[in-house]
Amino acid sequence: MTTVVNIKTKFDDLFIKEGLSGQDAYLQAIDQTKKVVADVSAQARGPFSGETPQMIQRAVQEMKLATEKGQPLETVLEDVGTLLLHSIQVNHKACIGHLHCPPLVPALAAEVVISAGNQSLDSWDQSSSATYLEQELIDWLCNRLELGENADGTFTSGGTQSNYMGLLLARDAYCEKRWNWNVQKKGLPPEARRLRILCSEAAHFTVKKSASQLGLGEDAVILVSTDPHQRMSLTDLKEKLLILKAESLLPFALVGTCGTTDFGSIDPLSRMAEAAKENGLWFHVDAAYGGALMLSHNDHHRLRGIQQADSITADFHKLFFQPISCGAFLVKERKHFKYISYHADYLNPEQDEEEGLLHLVNKSVQTTRRFDALKLFMSLRVVGLDRFGEMIDHTIEIARKTAQLMKESRFFSVLNAEPEINAVVFRYEPSFLKNNFDVINKQIHNELLHGGRALLAKTMHEGELYLKFTLLNPRVTMEDMKKLITDIAELGETIYRREGKTS
Ligand SMILES: *Cc1c(COP(=O)(O)O)cnc(C)c1O
Repeated sequence: MTTVVNIKTKFDDLFIKEGLSGQDAYLQAIDQTKKVVADVSAQARGPFSGETPQMIQRAVQEMKLATEKGQPLETVLEDVGTLLLHSIQVNHKACIGHLHCPPLVPALAAEVVISAGNQSLDSWDQSSSATYLEQELIDWLCNRLELGENADGTFTSGGTQSNYMGLLLARDAYCEKRWNWNVQKKGLPPEARRLRILCSEAAHFTVKKSASQLGLGEDAVILVSTDPHQRMSLTDLKEKLLILKAESLLPFALVGTCGTTDFGSIDPLSRMAEAAKENGLWFHVDAAYGGALMLSHNDHHRLRGIQQADSITADFHKLFFQPISCGAFLVKERKHFKYISYHADYLNPEQDEEEGLLHLVNKSVQTTRRFDALKLFMSLRVVGLDRFGEMIDHTIEIARKTAQLMKESRFFSVLNAEPEINAVVFRYEPSFLKNNFDVINKQIHNELLHGGRALLAKTMHEGELYLKFTLLNPRVTMEDMKKLITDIAELGETIYRREGKTS
């Protein structure tokens, strides 16, 4: 049937091959590799080895990067073991700093398939069945978010890319509507310097980064102030819109954040959607973090308003527990993808579409693209929606209880005593300490990390340093958190006794 000739070649040990024993080299390599991963995980006693950056750099620099003759995988895996040992142990329960999740086991299994299958989601003839699975999942997500029947989307490398795409489509749609101007062909119109984007002060930095990459400049981003809960102030939004109008500037996009990176705060999405409509703005919702509430049993309703978005960012390598990278970009009107679609004769000729073949490159800013949809698929199927929701709800409950506990403690102040998702921002602030909070909290952070005890995040609030728990790991219990809080209080006191009194 096939047209290949089965002759031994010099490179047979390096590829998966036809025939009964054709997979032997692959199976052996995977077996050896997974054993290293499992062994290091079993050994890890903290979220980080605690080695100094200099030591780690030296160990890495001493590794051979390439050899003339090649080496057995076992030899190379010794170095990989060292790398793993000094990497961040995302599965550890005290790894609770960033929006950096422990990946689900079924998703890790999916990665095996993704890499070996090596489908490329740009054209149908590089991804056939994968094309349809990604499309089905996109449709499922659009449905879940009630985006309506014209909705569509694509998997992306993450929130940065999705936010960029949202603002790109928003810019081009506005230029077409207002000036009948084709940005794709002609570049920015002369009036582009007046274009403005609105988002809150707590929005992700990639809104500005996108504006800069889109030729509008960072200054095109107008920051709307936030309320005490870090949510966009509607009063200030109205005011900012009036000011822009008075200055003859042209606001074209409003970005709502559903789950700010630091506090997990959710902007008033419904009211913002109304404001966007009244003012003819594209409404983009950055739900990189909070989008996972679509699976929550208890907090699903807090996404209300998201269904009115023109575009949405979702990130699966955060609260959906997927290995990096895995994200999505969704739009209410699929026709808007026309601003990024190109036809290449070798890849996605228009004729194919007439024949009904789907080429997903038409909806992406990437060309060659991974089959990341598979890991979300395998995770949703294996875990099930019931437990997925329970996991998310559990992390939210732990965050609320932790914040409550810390608020009642004499040793801490908490900025968000009622976390909207699962981040808790706090600092060590015992009654006997009157100043130098920044210094001592920075030291606590450092000693926890380099002692290999816990990985927390640092952030700034009103010019002062705070610490942050991002409680993504559903295995974390209140017992873990009580122990950690006690440890932090003790560590703070030790540092205070050691040096605090002298400064
Ligand atoms: C993480 C995050 C992003 C960026 O997403 P990446 O996946 O890191 O590119 C954007 N917005 C918010 C609110 C985020 O939390």
